[in-house]
Amino acid sequence: MQETMRLEKYFPASEVTVLAVCFVMVILLVVSFKVRMKSFRMFAAMLWMLIVATCSDLMLHYLMNKDPTLPTWIFYSLRSIYHVLLFSLLHHYVLYTCEATALSRVKRRPYIAAATALFAVFSVADTVGIFTGRTMHIIDGVISFEGSHIFTAGYICFVVLLTALLYRVRRRLYKQVMLGFAGVMVLSISMLAVARLRTQSSYTAATFLFPLIAVMYLLHSNPYDAMLGANDLRGLNNLIRYSDEKQREYLYLSLYMKELDESGSTMSDELKTLIRHVAEAYYRRSTLFQVSNGHMLLMVPKDRNRNWQERTEKILQEFKVEYEKFRYDYKLVIGESTPELNRKNEYVSFIRSIHARIPENTIYQVQRDDLDKFRNYEVILKEIADIAAKKDPEDPRVLVYCQPVYNIRTGKYDTAEALMRLQLDELGIVFPDQFIPPAEENGYIHALTQIILSKTCRAIRTLTSEGFEIERISVNVSALELRDQDFCGDIDEIIGRSGVDAGRIAIELTESRNDSDFMLMKEKIEELKGKGITFYLDDFGTGYSNMERILELPFDIIKFDRSMVIAGSQDKRSEQVLGSLADLFSKLDYSVLYEGVEDEKDEEMCRGLSASYLQGYKYSKPIPISELRKFLEKE
Ligand code: C2E
Ligand code: CA
Ligand code: CA
Repeated sequence: MQETMRLEKYFPASEVTVLAVCFVMVILLVVSFKVRMKSFRMFAAMLWMLIVATCSDLMLHYLMNKDPTLPTWIFYSLRSIYHVLLFSLLHHYVLYTCEATALSRVKRRPYIAAATALFAVFSVADTVGIFTGRTMHIIDGVISFEGSHIFTAGYICFVVLLTALLYRVRRRLYKQVMLGFAGVMVLSISMLAVARLRTQSSYTAATFLFPLIAVMYLLHSNPYDAMLGANDLRGLNNLIRYSDEKQREYLYLSLYMKELDESGSTMSDELKTLIRHVAEAYYRRSTLFQVSNGHMLLMVPKDRNRNWQERTEKILQEFKVEYEKFRYDYKLVIGESTPELNRKNEYVSFIRSIHARIPENTIYQVQRDDLDKFRNYEVILKEIADIAAKKDPEDPRVLVYCQPVYNIRTGKYDTAEALMRLQLDELGIVFPDQFIPPAEENGYIHALTQIILSKTCRAIRTLTSEGFEIERISVNVSALELRDQDFCGDIDEIIGRSGVDAGRIAIELTESRNDSDFMLMKEKIEELKGKGITFYLDDFGTGYSNMERILELPFDIIKFDRSMVIAGSQDKRSEQVLGSLADLFSKLDYSVLYEGVEDEKDEEMCRGLSASYLQGYKYSKPIPISELRKFLEKE
């Protein structure tokens, strides 16, 4: 069969469109941050192949039109480039599919071998066909494609191979994505078939474009918040991997706003605009990621921002001024990328480990030893996760320390506070400041409380059975735990199971400023008080202290924080304020306990200020609960 195409019939609109669409895709890829994994780079290469192929086809027709007397090798070469690039594109499509579906090296081998063989055979055959004048020749300004079936045959072979490959990997991708691919392929093949039947070769390039559009849309589009200008986390992973390969160094700024994170409410548009502005205005080529609702992470390439230190200074100045308007509590962490963190992209966990130990409203510059602390933090996190999963009330890793409390009325140490420590193989004894925050953040705290409560109950039983006088021991409970539906049931069950009288157990709670937590606290305290448990308000005088609310909660004992004791011992006015507060509580039938009594002077002052109980290093540091015997009296 002979296909003859007169030049007048040739209509390049389709190829011009293909080029235009390709360039739109290139622009989109350049202006937006893209997931730059290996498959993405392959994809970009395929796009360029299509662009060059289309250009060479356009050039061929343009030259034919303009000057058909040019040496024929020029036309043959252009035609060959066009076909070889399209075969190469099909070849890459096979490689790409293996990569994007993460097919193992062994499993992809036969497909890649087949594709490479097809590419070699058909490229050579087609080129030989063209240059020997069998596939294409030019007589008097008329191109004639003879036996251009070589190309069609190659195309069909590749389609068969690709179909087999897609069938092989069908369960490796999300079903909708696979359907998308299959649909686009069917469309392309039908289009090519129709074009061939109607001898309109100009549509060939278009049929290669559709699968590329599908790939870009289905696998390389990275959703982001247009107003905020933030990408989602998937992009971060790839940015880190890519920058690690290219050894590109980054500065990162992380802004965390607890309130937004916990409430789940979205940021106001003003705040989004501010964050976007700050991210754009100060650094070049920075990328913003939204880790969670209230957590933003800005990655700044250092090589594009040589004077990043100065820029950061400026950004912090503006941040402080602008941030005044929003008044969310924040934590701002600034650091530089390191290969240790790159390897597994541990930035988010690393930053979270820092959040866990810095106070609200601080700007923190990452230090060298933070990485060691992070390694410890990871060990701790792993261990508390394991403790929480096992829920063994006898877990040997959870130690109950306790601090005896001096009772002024009886002159004895008849109560104590249980304080938790962890005993870990890798780290030895770990203190609460290192494990309570991550336990709270990751939902392990209630499991820890249950263990310490159960161990405390057992200790009380042992001590009382040995004849020691112990009025009660208090256990610290985190306000977050009250949100747990089963909280009261769990506490009640542990105490019940131990056989200890509920009156010997107290719970220490700190104030919460959250409205719904306040209501919850009230309900739960009332319920457990009904069972005979005593309640302490812990850390009174730190931060918030809303008197109206405190008085609404049925606490028995108010623990004045050490900071109040320090203030009182430093100046007379503070001492007076402390005294009137303590008086007020006493008159309202609360008992007052002073925490952090370290010496004679502290003790003397507290005794004069309506104290019922005294606790602090002056009497004892926290000790293993078995050593409490030294402080207790026998009945
Ligand atoms: P907290 O409840 O205010 O416990 C008192 C802390 O002050 C203890 O620190 C104690 O060792 C320390 N302390 C005692 N006397 C003095 C003193 O005279 N001077 C000074 N400067 N400090 C004194 P620790 O054991 O490191 O506990 C720290 C915090 O960790 C506790 O503060 C509590 O909030 C939390 N925590 C401890 N154990 C538990 C637990 O089992 N569950 C929960 N949810 N939190 C716990
Ligand atoms: Ca406490
Ligand atoms: Ca306290």
